Amino acid sequence: MSAGGSGPKVSNDLTLLAPKFGQAVLAAIDACQAKGLDAMVFEALRSQELQALYYARGRTIIPPRHTVTNAPTNLHSWHGYGLAVDVVHRTKFWEPEGGESWFRRVAAVFKDHDCKWGGDWTRPDTPHFQWHLCKPSPSADARRLILTGGREAVWRAVNAI
Ligand SMILES: [Zn+2]
Repeated sequence: MSAGGSGPKVSNDLTLLAPKFGQAVLAAIDACQAKGLDAMVFEALRSQELQALYYARGRTIIPPRHTVTNAPTNLHSWHGYGLAVDVVHRTKFWEPEGGESWFRRVAAVFKDHDCKWGGDWTRPDTPHFQWHLCKPSPSADARRLILTGGREAVWRAVNAI
């Protein structure tokens, strides 16, 4: 397997997200723009192929020497359901001017648009936002539902459609 340019790609396509969540993210990005925060979505829907690559890093693909995720499938994160996004600065990416305080200002805007922020977790994930009606992480029920009814069944269950 190649760790180079030909592998699975990061998607920032908002049209692949749950409709209400995609609209909320778009409105939040616009509101950030109006405040001069220059935020953009770096990653939206995460494919199983990409999650498998992340999982392999630090395990069968070395370097890195540390693992980057504990989830073997994309169904343990709302990214795998089109119900989460990672947001970074348009030009400075994970290192915006102001650091943590920039992420806090972005989070305040996203919270006004029906999103929960990963920065509020005990193990903070500052670029991460997810649909406000989702539990912190997908349950076994959610994993069953997506396997039997597809993404739209989950979107309906969390009123994101
Ligand atoms: Zn995330």
